[in-house]
Parts: sequence; structure tokens; C-alpha cells
Amino acid sequence: MSGRYAAFSWRVIARDAATRARLGLLATPHGVVETPNFILCATRGALKAATMAEARALGAQIVLANTYHLMLAPGAERVARLGGLHRMTGWQGPMLTDSGGFQIFSMGHGGVAAEVKGNRAQAGEATLIRIEERGATFRSYIDGSVQELTPERSLAIQAALGADLVVVLDECTPYHAERDYVARALERTFRWSRRSLAAFDAAGGMGTEGPQALYGIAGGHVHEDLRRAAADFVNGEDFFGHAIGDSLGATREQMHAVVAFQAPLLREDRPIHLLGIGQVADIWHGVAQGVDTFDCVHPTRIARHGGALVRNVEDEGVDGRDHLNLRNARFRDDARVLEEGCDCPACAGGYARAYLHHLLKTGELLGLWLITQHNIRFMMRLMAEVRAAIAAGRVREAAAEWGVRLSA
Ligand SMILES: [Zn+2]
Repeated sequence: MSGRYAAFSWRVIARDAATRARLGLLATPHGVVETPNFILCATRGALKAATMAEARALGAQIVLANTYHLMLAPGAERVARLGGLHRMTGWQGPMLTDSGGFQIFSMGHGGVAAEVKGNRAQAGEATLIRIEERGATFRSYIDGSVQELTPERSLAIQAALGADLVVVLDECTPYHAERDYVARALERTFRWSRRSLAAFDAAGGMGTEGPQALYGIAGGHVHEDLRRAAADFVNGEDFFGHAIGDSLGATREQMHAVVAFQAPLLREDRPIHLLGIGQVADIWHGVAQGVDTFDCVHPTRIARHGGALVRNVEDEGVDGRDHLNLRNARFRDDARVLEEGCDCPACAGGYARAYLHHLLKTGELLGLWLITQHNIRFMMRLMAEVRAAIAAGRVREAAAEWGVRLSA
């Protein structure tokens, strides 16, 4: 690793023989992350119905916060005055912030329903005003004010927020974009990435809470030649890690194909993050291609709507989903816990699905808290099993036990 990232390190300690999966250790000034791992999303600096101490107790090793939301409220400079995100949120471990680009572009373009990682919760009214060489101009969804995000501004905000791992601004193109547009946007993202590296160096690689490490983004939409060009680009620049981003397609099959194509093209000596993806099957597929970290709002978002993650959900009579909807009347008399053997406060506490259903139907906040705790614990148990499977050299078999068939 270059001197730029002296306070960080990444090393692989074991590999699975039959897949590209690797077991690693990612060291940051705020602690070490065992990889593969799942990054919980504290979108606005909060994990919905869980404190950071609870997340830590449930096994979380790293969390993420969104630059886009925090720059609008409470504002990056205010977060810095409060001592940075670690101090403000109470999370003392490794943390990542994104560039803000995904929200600007996915919300800005609107109509992302066909995207496999669509920003559905906030999709709707287009808020993007223009994208130009300098950066992106958009309208705040909070107060309508006009805001600008440039590569330099994104890194300045991320320095103020104070996460360990920071990400370059890229343009996340919509799935329906023409190939020519995607190619031009990608070239601009390369130029933005070089400006990001220059801005990062100008700040000495330091944030409010200490040294930071910069991730480059490998985009290219679903086009193989562009994905290859993006991989070549990030491989040649001095990034600490790489994130697979941009549109990953309209279906999960397309997304798996994009990851299977691009992840193996990325340098083996840098960690790989897959942006915005985190369902069980997607994690097994990504791990098998060498992806080291994932993030997704899914576990905490569905908890708010009564969705509890369970293994092999097909067995429960629900098709194609990874969770139970506890608001469903079929749970009214279900005396079972969410998952036998789970050691989360909901399952270890012996709370029946029928009770959780009752809490949800009556609007008791305890229901949301219990399901959120379970979902966080579920993801951490999943990732621990992923890591154990790599150590034992049986990723393909372990995935099958989770109902996931990995292609040869
Ligand atoms: Zn549980």
C-alpha cells in the first residue's frame, strides 16, 4: 500500500479454492473489519430503531452514513462542530461515507423503479438541475434550495463528517440511459476521480476525526467494454479500495452478471465494495466473485414495515423473498420465534411471531425495535457464516445451505 494510506491496511488471509471468495482484514484508525462484511446504513446518522451500541453488541463492525442526506441536514459543518460522525452518533468503529452522487442522480433522474438497486423510498420528483464538467447541481428535497456537489465539495464534506473510508463522486447513470451517454458520463467520472485524488491530497488525507482512505468507483453500466475500461482506470490510480457502482441493471440476474464480469478485473490487492446491494443471495453471489463489503438499507428498511429476515424463506411459503411480513394475518396465532437458534433480543427473548404481529398492528414501537435488532443480528450471523465458509473452503456448499446456487 502506498504512503497515501499509511494508517490503513488490507490483507487477504485465506481464499476459497472453488470460488474467488477471500477472507480478509481491513484495518482503519477506528478498528479492524473482518471481511467479507456487511455495512449497516445509518443513512442520516441513525440506524433507524437501533443505537450504535446495540449494533456493536449484535456484531456490527462497520457502518455507513450518507453524504447527501447529512449535507442537507444537519449539515456537514455542523456535524464537524459536533466532533464528527463518530462522536455525534456514538459509533466508535470503522465508518464509510458515500459521495452523495447516488442519491443526487437516482432521485434526480426519477423513475428508477426498473433499477435493481433503485432508491425507491425517495424516488419521484426529479431534483437534478444539471450535470456539467464542474459537478452536479440539484434541488434539496428538504427545503428546495439549490445545492452544488463537485468532486472537491464531496470530499470536503466527507472530511468534515469524519468517516474512515470515503468515496469519489461519480455519476450513477440510469438504467434507461443510452450507451453513448453512459460512455461520456464514465469519461467525466474518470476526470472527477482524478480531481478527487488531487483534492484528497491537498487536504492531506485528513478528516475531522483523523486519516481517511479513498475508494474509487468502477462503473460502466451493463456494458462490458465500459466496465472493463472503468476497471482499468481505477486499477491505475492510487485508490485504497474500489467500489462497484453505476447502474447494475434492471434485474438481479443482470446485476450478478455485471459483478461476475467486473469484480475479477479489479486489482486483487485492494478491497472491493459493492454499492447498495445486500440481499442474502446477492451477498453469496458477490462474495463468490471476490466482493469484500456490501451495504444496503434493506435490513433496517424492511424492519420498519414489519419485515423480518429469515433463512430459506421459501420454506415459510413466501415466494422469492428473504423476509417474512409480520403484518400478515397468517402470523396472528404463530407461537414460533422469528428464527429458531437466533440469539437476537427478539428470538432469544422468546417473543412469538404472533406477539410481534400484535405489536405491529397496534403501532407499538417495541415491535419495530425487536425486528430491527433481529434483522441486524441476522445479517451479522450471515456474514460470520460466509467468513467461516471461506476459511473452511466450502463457499459453494454453504451458499447451497442458504438456498443459493452459485454458478460454476
Ligand atoms: Zn432473531
